[in-house]
This record gives sequence, structure tokens and C-alpha cells, in this order.
Amino acid sequence: MTKHTDSREIEEEQWRPATRMVRGGTRRSAHGETSEAMYLTSGYVYEDAAEAEARFKGEAPGFVYSRFGNPTVAMFERRLALIEGAEACKATSTGMAAVFAALMAQLRAGDHVVAARALFGSCLYIVSELLPRYGIEVTLVDGVELDQWRAAFRPDTRCAFLESPSNPGLEIIDLEAVSALAHGVGARLVVDNVFATPLLQPAMRLGADIVVYSATKHIDGQGRCLGGAILSSQAFVDEELLPFLRHTGPSLSPFNAWVLLKGLETLDLRVERMCANALAVATLLEGLGGVERVLYPGLASHPQHALAERQMSAGGTIVSFDIAGGKAAAFDFLDRLGMIEISNNLGDAKSLITHPATTTHQRLRPEQRAALGIGDGLVRLSVGLEDVEDIKSDLGQAMAGG
Ligand SMILES: *Cc1c(COP(=O)(O)O)cnc(C)c1O
Repeated sequence: MTKHTDSREIEEEQWRPATRMVRGGTRRSAHGETSEAMYLTSGYVYEDAAEAEARFKGEAPGFVYSRFGNPTVAMFERRLALIEGAEACKATSTGMAAVFAALMAQLRAGDHVVAARALFGSCLYIVSELLPRYGIEVTLVDGVELDQWRAAFRPDTRCAFLESPSNPGLEIIDLEAVSALAHGVGARLVVDNVFATPLLQPAMRLGADIVVYSATKHIDGQGRCLGGAILSSQAFVDEELLPFLRHTGPSLSPFNAWVLLKGLETLDLRVERMCANALAVATLLEGLGGVERVLYPGLASHPQHALAERQMSAGGTIVSFDIAGGKAAAFDFLDRLGMIEISNNLGDAKSLITHPATTTHQRLRPEQRAALGIGDGLVRLSVGLEDVEDIKSDLGQAMAGG
């Protein structure tokens, strides 16, 4: 493995966060391009046969095949690692590829995993359906109940997995407390930090050993492409993750890596504005007739508001709320919206709304949905970058029309 010791990389580590987002990881070609170059190549050529041998042995620097590494993808990985404050980052084709690889690279038959129940649908499928097929035992807990975590950890627990804030219930899990419990039995904590983004919640500083992202969400943030990332120690990448990725191939396309690199340049501006818009929207919704309950970590009414204030720097970009009258009323409300679109993506510049019980969480049994607080009247709003007054007036007119 190449070690990050050139002078350029030491300089990058001195930069403040906003500078890292714009410039971190940039490696110019001999042409001196301003924007990062897009290296759309599957392979690489060598000066001579000895050079090929040396690169394959890892004794000479350079790329050998884009399933293993690519200059544009490497720039994205380096920039995101700098933003997160992680030693290492590996990019993947999607967020789900990141979650799957982060878990499968370290687990084997006979291992035990503890996971919070309130997970993104596909994450829940991996832990509750796929892992047990390979002889991995999984205990699901209610993530906000520390006693349940404490009771679930065992000497053979290899890792803990959680998402905070969760989707779509926006539950906040105490990362420091869960990481202390995990580390107490020698297990690793894996955090899906998508809803918080690298900016609002420093998951690694709070004790996560491995952080995963769907870059499809806020990192792209403009609805263009899929991507994912895994951040961790260099040792985890070198010894466990890299062999898994090299041989299974969930690689990020250099084109998508380039789009995501450009997304990182404006991530803080977008997330900051979206959080301000989300707080204003949540405050408005709390006072609207027809809204039974508003879930937003930045509101004093949120059940884990104090914890959210401690571990997050803002309440996030997503607001969930219950509409009185169940599914029919929620559908009517969605259909009356004029500007805000019905879509299950999130973290986008455009405000998007979804009805989790019939879309993202449709496959769950009714009692599973009930346990997660996903009622038939619940809607999840991803607040975008439009003028907040336009977002508020659209919500207001749709609610008043009921
Ligand atoms: C979207 C999402 C994923 C999956 O990401 P993809 O890029 O769609 O594969 C995983 N976890 C959370 C919390 C998500 O929101």
C-alpha cells in the first residue's frame, strides 16, 4: 500500500474543513487542469514488463486496474477521508454496496452482530435476512434503549451496526455509549451516517470504527448518480476491506467519482442551507392543523433532542410528520402538493416527499412498521434548497386543502 506521506498530503491535513471540501485530494495531471481530471479508463499501461511486475507486487506506485483503483476515484476517496478525519476511504458503486462490503469483509460464520432495528430497508434486509444465511447470528435491538444494547453484546460479538438519525423515524442513538459497549467486548461499531452527513455528526470522533455513506444522497445532492463510501483505519482497509473489494468488484465508476468530487465542493453550503430550511419547515408544521406529530431532531419536542444537540451540530435535512387521517389523508396531502415532488430519494437540492409505509418500508410487516413508528399517516420530507417561503407555502396550501 502507498502511504500518505508526500508533502502535498501533509499540507492538506492542515487545512480547515471548507478548504478540504474544495481542494482536498486534488492531483493534477501534467496538463495542469483546474477541475479534477476524469480518468475514464479500465486499465493502465507499463513502461516495461518489470514495471508491471513491480506494480502488481505493490513495490512501485501506480494503478493496475480500475476495479482496484483509479485516479479520479482516488481523489474522491482522499477528499472524503479528509472531510471525515479518517485514515482511509474506499469508494463503492452504491451506498448498499458500502454497507454490504463493510459488514461482509469482516464477518464469518459463527460471528454475532448487534444491530439497531430502525434501519434503511435494504440495510435491515442484509442484517436480518442475508447475514443469518451465512451462519452469522444477529440480535436486533431498539437503538434508543441502551439497556437493550448492553444486554445484547456477548464475547463473540464482532460488530454493532446502526443508523442515526434513523430513516424515517429520525431516532437518535448515543454513538459514544454504544461504541463504549461494543469496544468493551472487542467488537467494532459500524455507523451508517447518511442522514447526518460527514458535516453534522463526527461519527468517528464519537467512537465509530467504520463509517459508511450513500454518496447518492447529500454528497451528490443533485440527483445525478449513485455512489457509496466506507471510511475506517488504514489497517482495516489494507487487511480486511481491500481483499474483499478487489475480488468482488463493487467499484465506483470514475465518471460518478468525478460527479461526487464536484458535489463535495459545495456539500457544506448545501447542507447548511437545507438544515436551516428544514428547521423552519419543522417549526411551521408543528403549528399546522392536520399535523399530528412532527419528528425533527432540531426541535425541542423531539424525544432525543438533548442527545441530538450533543452529538450533532444541526438537526439535519429531513423532517418526518404524521398526518391526521392515516393513509388516505397522507395520499391526498401528497397529491395536493404543487412544487414538492413525490420521490423516495433524499438529500437532493429539490424538496422531495415520500410515504414510507407504501414505498421505502412497504416490505415490512405491519407490526414491524408499528415497532418503528411508521404509521399510515407518516410522511418523510427531504428539505431542499428552494426558497424556504416557497416550501412553506406549498406545505401550507396542501394541508389547508384537506
Ligand atoms: C439511501 C440509503 C442507503 C443506500 O444507498 P444507495 O446509494 O441507494 O445504495 C443506505 N443507508 C441509508 C440510511 C440510506 O438513506
